[in-house]
Amino acid sequence: MAKRFTADQYADGILAGNRIVLSQAITLAESTLLSDQTLTQHVLDRVLPHAGHSVRVGITGVPGVGKSTFIEALGLFLVNEQQKRLAVLAVDPSSQRSGGSILGDKTRMSQLAAHPQAYIRPSPAGRSLGGVTRSTREAMLLCEAAGYDIIFIETVGVGQSETAVHGMVDFFLLLMLAGAGDELQGIKKGIMEMADAITITKADGGNELAARRARREYQNALHLFPTTESGWQPVVTTSSAVSGAGVPEVWGVVQQYVQQTQASGYFQQRRQAQNLHWLHEAIRHGLEEQFYARPEVQAQIAIVRQQVLQGQKSAFGAAGELLSM
Ligand code: GDP
Repeated sequence: MAKRFTADQYADGILAGNRIVLSQAITLAESTLLSDQTLTQHVLDRVLPHAGHSVRVGITGVPGVGKSTFIEALGLFLVNEQQKRLAVLAVDPSSQRSGGSILGDKTRMSQLAAHPQAYIRPSPAGRSLGGVTRSTREAMLLCEAAGYDIIFIETVGVGQSETAVHGMVDFFLLLMLAGAGDELQGIKKGIMEMADAITITKADGGNELAARRARREYQNALHLFPTTESGWQPVVTTSSAVSGAGVPEVWGVVQQYVQQTQASGYFQQRRQAQNLHWLHEAIRHGLEEQFYARPEVQAQIAIVRQQVLQGQKSAFGAAGELLSM
């Protein structure tokens, strides 16, 4: 890390909306060094009272569905016409690209990236899913403290990251293509079940009719899913990031959802449940780290693994022995 601040200096910079300090704090949160993680927690403690006031939206879809084009179109609408401040974070643990990620490429969302009310942050490269989701959640809180009132969290729509992201957002948006075969385009049924809305992308030119047909099909498919805890009926729309048609409407759906679930209390309940979930995740993670760091465990683990492999000890018995060391 180029420059280190104290926790107070990070917090003051973030609360003042200083993007450079925000970026450095997110880099700190992404660090695997124990001292950096401890400092991150101090920064979070300081800024936490100022976080939590945004609308958090997860956006997913297979590569090529039009995510970056759509996020740029919706993002520009939000910053220019709704005077919002928008942060876009990416979760892409599979990324091996240098420096980055699905958002590492500077040509993506270039107009939005250059906008003073928008902040775009690529996914950290070469981390485990657990590491990425933890640091993304921390980045989200830091962005909220810096005054961003809408947070988009983008995933590539093919792996397990969606479940993790679903666990940190208020609203989950799935982007789908029309007429690309109904094997749900590699989108697993579980991901469709998580969607609060689906938008059929590229609904322009010769593709418009197919998009409308796909919309009806997906709307019918969603009706077959059990009603969600939120009482919200998922909505399917069509949109074109190129013509702009249907893009503001997607935001209208998000707003409707927020209003409805805030009125019912579900919005707040879900956030509380998510916080508890992250508390338990952090405890589990911390305990595991402590456990494997113990010298007795380090001395015995290889032997015990062999004993289990050779059937000399049961897995449960062996675990019990290690845990009681
Ligand atoms: P991502 O991989 O999901 O981020 O997809 P991209 O945003 O990179 O888009 C993939 C391709 O689809 C690009 O060639 C885009 O120009 C094209 N595309 C994206 N949105 C639209 C749209 O609304 N209409 C049309 N016709 N093409 C689009």
